[in-house]
Amino acid sequence: MLLSAEHEAFRRTVREFAEAEIAPYVAQWDREHHFPVDLVRKMGDLGLFGLIAPEEYGGAGGDFTSLCVAIEELGRVDQAIGITLEAGVGLGINPILEFGTAEQKERWLPDLVAGRALAGFGLTEPGAGSDAGATRTKAVLDGDQWVIDGAKQFITNAGTEITSLVTVTARTGTHESGAAEISAITIPAGTPGFIVEPAYDKLGWNISDTHPLSFEGVRVPVDHLLGDRGRGYAQFLAILDDGRIAISALAVGCIQACLDLCVQYAGERTTFGAPIGRKQGVAFQIADLAVMAQAGRALTYEAAAMKDAGASAGQLKQAASIAKLYTSEAAVTATRIATQVFGGYGFMEEYPVARFYRDAKILEIGEGTSEVQRMLIARGLGLPVE
Ligand SMILES: Cc1cc2nc3c(=O)[nH]c(=O)nc-3n(C[C@H](O)[C@H](O)[C@H](O)COP(=O)(O)OP(=O)(O)OC[C@H]3O[C@@H](n4cnc5c(N)ncnc54)[C@H](O)[C@@H]3O)c2cc1C
Repeated sequence: MLLSAEHEAFRRTVREFAEAEIAPYVAQWDREHHFPVDLVRKMGDLGLFGLIAPEEYGGAGGDFTSLCVAIEELGRVDQAIGITLEAGVGLGINPILEFGTAEQKERWLPDLVAGRALAGFGLTEPGAGSDAGATRTKAVLDGDQWVIDGAKQFITNAGTEITSLVTVTARTGTHESGAAEISAITIPAGTPGFIVEPAYDKLGWNISDTHPLSFEGVRVPVDHLLGDRGRGYAQFLAILDDGRIAISALAVGCIQACLDLCVQYAGERTTFGAPIGRKQGVAFQIADLAVMAQAGRALTYEAAAMKDAGASAGQLKQAASIAKLYTSEAAVTATRIATQVFGGYGFMEEYPVARFYRDAKILEIGEGTSEVQRMLIARGLGLPVE
């Protein structure tokens, strides 16, 4: 068995929660581009934001595999809710947990862990995405304050009414080698000069909160540096390895949703006097979905188990990229198949497959594109790829 009995019992808990608290409302939230703060609080009450956080901050001190199970099950009902948890923990809580001082943890974690607050992480900039080291946002020390100027782009959970902070990467100087010194700095929401621009009009993930951010002479105390000065980029790359496993779990949820919806529909919809599931042209495509779900789950939970077992950074990076690449591309394929199985109804927003079709594409882009995953995997194989 891939997962323990405890993990499977936890899966049932999250599934029941998602069916009761998300499924009945999600089509309307999606249509209205509504970010459901009340649901986030309920997710907090269920302990979802605190799964990997230590008990002293209100968390469960649990394993990374549990977090992946929760993201998969939320993602099976709605991808945007799944990413809200994934980003809330992976990009919001995790950097503070991994690199924060005792004081930073005490200040920020209890509310984040309880789902009373959300945090974002701003790495991407208008001119620096895959090449995130090309960041232009600058932070200059002025007495005992950092003064930050610049802009970030596509930042998840950055503009909700409960967002308490955004951690950003910024140039804080130049290394002896001439390379940019990049550090991570936390900026509390509401700090003067920290401007949350209007939300994007996206292709999918309508329920998820995504904003451009700009910083105009933003001043924060010097102790808002997160982790070591000059290590901000490296720290974030390590955080991204975990994030890619979590995104794989989200993609598995998408594939499973397509499979469940198709099995049911192919048994009900009749053409030429018989259910479409009798036609090999339909049934074989659904069989392929089952293969994708099982293969994707195996890659994802193997990587999660490696994380829980303390695998080396190199092994984890490779496993995370392989899982993310396979599952995200399989999810896009799965939504194309599901929409096709539903025929014209698959093109109608009334049916969830249409929403999954729109939502899946970003899986191949966020937290490192498919091309970046192939580059990392090739490098992991020792190839001299650029
Ligand atoms: C909805 C959404 C939410 C997001 N949330 C966050 C967030 O919370 N925080 C955050 O920091 N970022 C976030 N991002 C940003 C996301 O991580 C980037 O969009 C992604 O990493 C790609 O960067 P880019 O958009 O600049 O594309 P680019 O880097 O400009 O890439 C454009 C194309 O070129 C390809 N390419 C680039 N370099 C290479 C190469 N060396 N070899 C081969 N191909 C290459 C890419 O694969 C891609 O196909 C989010 C994005 C979206 C859309």
